[in-house]
Amino acid sequence: MDPSHTPRAAAFFDVDCTLLSINSGRAWFEYQRARGEISVWMSLRSVMWLALYRLSLLDYDTVTAKVLEPYRGVSASKVDGEVQAWYEAHIEAHVCARGKAAVERHRAAGHELVLLTSGSRFLNARVAAHLNIPHVLCTEVQVDESGALTGDYERPACYGAGKVHWAEEFARRHGISLAHSHFYSDSFSDRPMLERVGHPYAINPDPRLKRFARARGWPIEDWSQS
Ligand SMILES: [Mg+2]
Repeated sequence: MDPSHTPRAAAFFDVDCTLLSINSGRAWFEYQRARGEISVWMSLRSVMWLALYRLSLLDYDTVTAKVLEPYRGVSASKVDGEVQAWYEAHIEAHVCARGKAAVERHRAAGHELVLLTSGSRFLNARVAAHLNIPHVLCTEVQVDESGALTGDYERPACYGAGKVHWAEEFARRHGISLAHSHFYSDSFSDRPMLERVGHPYAINPDPRLKRFARARGWPIEDWSQS
């Protein structure tokens, strides 16, 4: 068979609770609160937004905008330095062994390796460097000419159907067939992208994704103890 006729494939990986055994958003929030960077009032407001979101009374873009609001005017390099220290002390150890093994299997198969996450580049560029993954698709925050965060971000957020938007754009640029590609995720919120690729995997799935994956016959794996 002529190898030039084989469509190029990518392996996309969700990060929180998939390649990482923890949710980095929650870990960042707890780290900031422990350091006194987040007031009780801000904590309560964030909890309220997340509760409204879980009740489907707010969409993810609205919640993302609310979470970013307090960062308006803050220097991106200051945030980057804080994330670096936090990543080294609290996050890198949570990159799971079975996730690393999956990355290496796809590298050996010649697939493009891509992180596909709703999180920030501040953190996920570091996770990507640690795993030697060349591409990061994430929610990109806006930075103004002075190097400060504007509190806004590029739409759509890289979440839910937003992941499909950014993965399709990536696939066009790199000549990738999504039908021949792979995606690993723990969350039912990733259903649109799991359905978009030819090879979906449910990793440490939440109960809703577990039921859905079983009904579809998708592989289900537990990476959380590795
Ligand atoms: Mg996740």
